Amino acid sequence: LATTAASYLETLNPEQRRAVEHGVTADGHVGTPLLVIAGAGSGKTNTLAHRVAHLIVSGADPRRILLMTFSRRAASEMSKRVERIARKVLGDKAAIMNEALSWAGTFHGIGARLLREYAEQIGLNPAFTIHDREDSADLMNLVRHERGLSKTESRFPAKGTCLSIYSRCVNAETELEEVLGASYPWCAGWAAELKELFAAYVEAKQKQNVLDYDDLLLYWAQMMSEAGIADDVGGRFDHVLVDEYQDTNRLQSSVLLALKPAGRGLTVVGDDAQSIYSFRAATVRNILDFPGQFSPRAEVVTLDRNYRSTQPILSAANGVIDLARERFTKNLWTERASSAKPRLVTVRDEADQARYIVERILENREEGALLKQQAVLFRTSSHSGPLEVELTRRNIPFVKFGGLKFLDAAHVKDVLALLRFVENPRDRVAGFRVLHLLQGIGPASAQRVLDHMSDTADPLNALCTLPSPPRTGDDWTTFVETIGNLRYSEWPSDLERARLWYEPHLDRIHEDAEVRRADLVQLEQIAGGYPSRERFLTELTLDPPDATSDQAGVPLLDEDYLILSTIHSAKGQEWKSVYVLNVVDGCMPSDLGAGTSAEIEEERRLLYVAMTRAKDDLHLVVPQRFFAHGQRSQGDRHVYASRTRFIPEKLLGLFERTSWPAVSSGPNMRGPSQGPRVDIGARVRGMWR
Ligand code: ATP
Ligand code: MG
Repeated sequence: LATTAASYLETLNPEQRRAVEHGVTADGHVGTPLLVIAGAGSGKTNTLAHRVAHLIVSGADPRRILLMTFSRRAASEMSKRVERIARKVLGDKAAIMNEALSWAGTFHGIGARLLREYAEQIGLNPAFTIHDREDSADLMNLVRHERGLSKTESRFPAKGTCLSIYSRCVNAETELEEVLGASYPWCAGWAAELKELFAAYVEAKQKQNVLDYDDLLLYWAQMMSEAGIADDVGGRFDHVLVDEYQDTNRLQSSVLLALKPAGRGLTVVGDDAQSIYSFRAATVRNILDFPGQFSPRAEVVTLDRNYRSTQPILSAANGVIDLARERFTKNLWTERASSAKPRLVTVRDEADQARYIVERILENREEGALLKQQAVLFRTSSHSGPLEVELTRRNIPFVKFGGLKFLDAAHVKDVLALLRFVENPRDRVAGFRVLHLLQGIGPASAQRVLDHMSDTADPLNALCTLPSPPRTGDDWTTFVETIGNLRYSEWPSDLERARLWYEPHLDRIHEDAEVRRADLVQLEQIAGGYPSRERFLTELTLDPPDATSDQAGVPLLDEDYLILSTIHSAKGQEWKSVYVLNVVDGCMPSDLGAGTSAEIEEERRLLYVAMTRAKDDLHLVVPQRFFAHGQRSQGDRHVYASRTRFIPEKLLGLFERTSWPAVSSGPNMRGPSQGPRVDIGARVRGMWR
């Protein structure tokens, strides 16, 4: 074992190896706490995967390892990596891996699982359903309405703002007044009403047995403050490991400390220069304060060799982050030499930006690079609009991360709301959503139905025995019949039942019913991968599949497709070629007027995150004008733009600067309707068919 074990450790550099082996002993393998803090691409995630594999190879029980990552995708990639490494060493003995890392996931996902398990002990009904942000905003709105706070003349904050304020108070564990003063000064006059509203919102959620995203952390943290339960939960795990620790908030760190108060078996990794989630109350203090929270202090390992990017890309990224006001991690170096500097490309507008990128992508594709090895990144989801149009025109398939989700589509939400309503009939947001679909049911009658149900011990039964409300006709009868069937039908066949019920409504509501029907069939296929309705609803709500070029579908795994992603969602990933859209003031940093200096600093880190995703090839595109809201909607106007302030004059030497199309053709000479001079795409279009 020792010789083979050495082989995977030998791929690591000395610091990485120190982190991997830290505290791994023969007597239980539980060491003092460990922090790995290092820059982008230095192998933090890789080190974490090796550490988990090393623990398992050294005898740790994978079922007693808790691994928390930024997304479910990251968790499953990490599990696969761990398994690959461990299998090489353990071979047949790797049967243990069959149950490998059953506790790998996001903070929210793990929280939901533990809360269901401990529900009885903490007075929670384990059948709770989870509200996504949109549902939460809808419920906030309902409550706001009930409290008479939604009248437009009162200028009370909008539902989304109310939810953001509430969320920040919860996640930052901060008093309302303080949050208002620091981040929402224009709402400060409403403190008393907001307090009342939030109390009513919390009460409504409890009465309806729903939890929102924030509750998953909040309830978990509360649960961990019960000594008996904390010992029990903490005792289930010998090791707790967290990736991307710089983007956790105070609730998350308090959960972590409650799990492992002495820090034994605790490992966190992260990079303060990549902290980009302060709008969700993430705080870089978590990572900086980590070592001192334990006695003796946590072991700290820093890594300074980057394995991802070529030297010119790294130098440019270092240049950008060097100008940051505060920074803990030091500059990176790499042995990946290259003569190609990252490109800073000036284009006329977003249409040219899209054409430029498509041409580069097709060129790369001709040279043998898969679409999957290339990614286009942007600050805000709406910025990719013109590019999506161009990609669709050229038949280039893509998947978009961090944008509008499959599940956000109205028809998908309708069907899921029906399932959620059956799962938890006290969930009023779901209830309103399905009742609204019925002919003859308006807000007032929907409310009457829901009120009638909520006062009973068996709400679905109460619903089914209600006399049919006036003017609902067949719609009501079919609805009640479906509810009755769904209560007792087998998973996942209930999804088909729900679809069949929904189809007449679909035809009535939507003109493109055909396309939407295909989505619903696809939803059934996705559902097939989940063991139960409850798991399906929970996991889809927490981490929904991403939208693709085929309307809202999910691509087959073996297909080749381009990645479009917000920078936030690109965290931790890497691609051979990376294109960054709209590297201009107004996009990066975004909102110029409102930005405090802390916010501007965060935007700088965002650009750093974007640049450090690239391995071989980086293009920062600077359109000279762009649409302020990313869409050619009415009222959205062209804004003239200049290069982002994060790349000042003195950094220009780090880039190869070009204009596209080549200056000789004169970017201002061509009319707006003119296409590219050479349509390279036409040559290779056949490849995508
Ligand atoms: P980020 O900050 O972006 O999350 P990271 O620090 O987590 O980056 P990884 O994603 O783990 O970095 O690694 C970056 C790349 O470097 C990966 O392709 C990884 O396989 C490679 N790598 C890491 N360590 C080594 C090593 N010792 N030898 C060779 N390649 C390595
Ligand atoms: Mg990483």
